[in-house]
Formats: sequence, C-alpha cells, structure tokens
Amino acid sequence: MTETTLPQGPPAALEREATAVSAAAVPVAPAVPVAPVVQEVPVVLSALRLEALAVGGTVGVVGMGARRSRARAESLAARLGPNQPVVVAGVAGALDPRLGPGDVVVAAQIQASDGSVVRELPGADLLAAELVRAGLRVHVGPIASSPTMVRTAEGRRHLARHGALAVDMESASVAGALGSRPMAVVRAISDTEDVGAARGGLRALRSLRTVRAAAEHWGRAVGARSVVLAAPRSFCAGVDRAIEIVERALDRFGPPVYVRRQIVHNAHVVRRLEDLGAVFVAELDEVPDESVVVLAAHGVTPGVRAEATARPTLNVIDATCPLVAKVHHEARRFASQGYRMVLIGHHDHEEVVGTVGEAPDQIRVVQDVDAVAALPFEADERIAFLTQTTLATDETRAVVDALRARYPMVAGPHADDICYATQNRQDAVRALAGQCDLVLVVGSANSSNTARLVEVARRTGCRAELLEDASELRLEWLASARRVGLTAGASAPESLVQQTLDALRLLGPVTVDEHRTTEETVRFSLPQQVR
Ligand code: SF4
Repeated sequence: MTETTLPQGPPAALEREATAVSAAAVPVAPAVPVAPVVQEVPVVLSALRLEALAVGGTVGVVGMGARRSRARAESLAARLGPNQPVVVAGVAGALDPRLGPGDVVVAAQIQASDGSVVRELPGADLLAAELVRAGLRVHVGPIASSPTMVRTAEGRRHLARHGALAVDMESASVAGALGSRPMAVVRAISDTEDVGAARGGLRALRSLRTVRAAAEHWGRAVGARSVVLAAPRSFCAGVDRAIEIVERALDRFGPPVYVRRQIVHNAHVVRRLEDLGAVFVAELDEVPDESVVVLAAHGVTPGVRAEATARPTLNVIDATCPLVAKVHHEARRFASQGYRMVLIGHHDHEEVVGTVGEAPDQIRVVQDVDAVAALPFEADERIAFLTQTTLATDETRAVVDALRARYPMVAGPHADDICYATQNRQDAVRALAGQCDLVLVVGSANSSNTARLVEVARRTGCRAELLEDASELRLEWLASARRVGLTAGASAPESLVQQTLDALRLLGPVTVDEHRTTEETVRFSLPQQVR
C-alpha cells in the first residue's frame, strides 16, 4: 500500500520553487487578511503559506487541518460581509485514478469523510470552464474533507466511495465557518496513489499559480442580478418553416433526408436534426440519386436549382425563406429591365451568394459606405439597390444614403429588404441595452442576424457578448454585471436562452422580466411536398 502524501509540511523543494516564483511580486498575508474586506472581490483562503504564495494576491492562510482552519475561518468570517465570496484554494490528494498531479478539481460539493454532504457548490462548472480556458486540466465533482490525514490507498478508496474526486482537510470546516456566503473550492492535485507530494507537489503549485484570475472573476460574478429578456427573440417564421420542412420530410419519407448546407445557421439545430436522421452536405453531388434533399433557408443560386432539376430522381424540397425569395425576385425583375444592381450585404454570406447568382454580371456587393465610392457604375446608368435580409438597420440606412447621394435616381425596394424578424429583434435589443450592464446574445457565430444583434447592442455603448450556448458563458463578462439583457438570434432555439438563464441562476438569485417591443404573428405556408 502506498502512503498518502497530503503534505504535513511542504518539501523544501516546493518551498524554494514557490518562493522563487512569487515572493518578490506577490503580497501574502501571514495569517487571515488584515486589509479591509471589499464586497465582491473574493477572499482566497489557503491552508498553507506555500499554497498562498502560489495563488498570489492577498490570500488568507487558515492553517492545516479541520480544527485550526475552522477557528481561523470563523475569526475571518466575523469580519466579512454576509455576501462576501470566499475561494478555498490549495493542493489535495487524488481519490479518482483518472486524476494526475497538476490536475485541478473544482468542487461541486463538499463531503464529510462519511460521505454526507456538507455543502453543494453551484456554479462549479462556470468556474471550471474559466480554468480550462486558462489552460488547466480541470475536473468538476465532489471533494471529500477528511479530519485526519489519509495515509493509505485503502483510505483513499474509502473516501472515494461516494464519488469524491479528491481529498483535503479544510474545506468542510471552512464551509461550516462561512455560513451561507458564496463559496468555491479549487484544489490542485499534489499526490495520487502512485505519485507522492515530493514529485507531484511542484505541478500542483504551478497549477495554483493560474487559479487567481478565474477566482477573481468568479468572486465578482456571484450575487443577485436581474435579467431583462428581449422580445421578440429566437426563431423567426422563416427558421420555423425551414426546420418544420426537414422534420416533416423525415416523418413522411423516412431518414436519411439530405440537406444542402446548414438548414439555418445554428449548430444546435443542425445537431438535433442530424440526430433525427438528416444528413447535411455541402453540395448536391454528395446526394445519392432517388433521395429527398432540402435546400436551406438562405436560398441558392439558379445554378444550384438547375443542378437539382437536371436530376429527376431527386425529390427536391425548397426551404428558402419566402422573404429571401422575394429579394431574388426583385433581382430578376431589375435584371430583366436592364438595371445594374448594388446588393448591400456580406460578400461570403450564403444568402448574398444566392442573390448575386440571379444576375452575376449586373450585381455588385457593397458592405459599407466606403465601398459605395468604389462602385464602377456611372451616375447616368439605371441603378437599383437590394439588401441582404439580416443586416443592421442603422448601418444599412447609411449605405442607402450614400448610394442616393452618388446615384440620385437609384431605384430600390420601398424601404429596404431587411426582414421583419431582423428589424424586430434589433429594435428589442436596442430598447433594453441602455438599461443594462451587459447584453448576452445567444446564437452561432456564422449567423448574420445574431452577429448584428451584438453590434446593435454595442452601438448603444453597452457591453455585449455572443455565446453559442450556456457552456460559453464567461464569468469575466458577468463581473459586476448586475442587470443583464438577454436575447437570441432568429436561428437560435429558445431552449438555449432558458439554459443560459439557468446558468446565471448558479451564481445567485435572478429576477427575470421581459421587455416586449412588438408581437409577431407571421407564419409562412409549407411547400406542397410536406403539407
Ligand atoms: Fe426569413 Fe428573416 Fe428569418 Fe431570414 S431572418 S429566415 S429572412 S424571416
């Protein structure tokens, strides 16, 4: 059997390493902090001075073992505010054989040595994600707190029987002293059944050196907040229709149903449909004969349609949004009347590629005001403009103004082609961004209307961040953000918004209000093949 290596006193090598690393730059309190405790900035507690040196910053040393750490933590707690966050950081012994020296465990739960739960620690996943981004190998799970040093492999296995990943000697007693104050426990593995602290301790201390920033972010992020949901948000009628087309096709014809490109620009939607039997392809030549194939909501070029028509055994179902199809129709109409066209949009977006395909020799794409000056058209030519459906309304207006200034006779749609859903979601986020510390926009990075929501919110002066789903929520963004706006792009499912709310609730109580700027009642009919 291997003797457990939870260090009673740090090996000299570890002491030298930690001192060399941080003693010059980092102020370390010899005991509990004496500086005034500032609300929201987390107090970090370590058992040993060596651990405190590695973590850096102002760290309280509570001493090793249950009794000593409890007494010092109680003395500290008497001077802390009732909501003061506290992070316990230090080394620990591994209980799970998958853990190695230098790995980090973020406690989701503190267990007593008999396996009973001392405290649940919600928010561990968010803190762990921050540490993963910092480059550490991180595990989330229970940590067992043992009142005595664990000296045998058998002792480790006994503590592991209720799922604990690691063992320390202080977390349970510190938790008892802190009451209901927000608490996190981050432990770096110094020893395993096979590797003693003399070998593994240095790696643990190196990992602890990376913990500080994440602990700060967590401490500043925990606490009560209010969330304002933008409405409308999430799916538009075109996305609803496209998803329903694939679902009905799967139902009616059975899997596989092929889909050319992402049916809508959202990774979660695509994954769910793949699970149901959809097969996503880049081009039609990947689709076998006698298959059902759906064309995505963003529309395609006439060339792709011709390719589909040339294969009579394919059952082609067009999920192009009717509002995108309307822009194609305008392009064909202007082209037939001899107009040169300016398409305001993003060159590489699938919708723009599809629209340009209607009259490639007559259409030029411009993205911003500067590009208008570089257009090769003369003022006396017949010029018309079109717009991508998912642009930012305020930016597009500036480009249209520049076009009218250069080509006073420019023709165009009544206003622009920006669709109702894009307009409504931008109005909704603009209406709440001014009252928020942060706006979170849920959606995929390749979704144009989602990216525009971030830009619109930022243009109000508010911080705004894009996240694919709750797993991308960053504590850093939430630091001191007590009023958060939340919305989702037209291709992002509402379930992702609710999951983001749930993740925010792990950091403290959340009150939720909805700010609705308009009702949406638009519905599009389905293609004949799936009615
Ligand atoms: Fe159609 Fe607008 Fe939705 Fe795009 S964002 S699918 S154009 S309704």
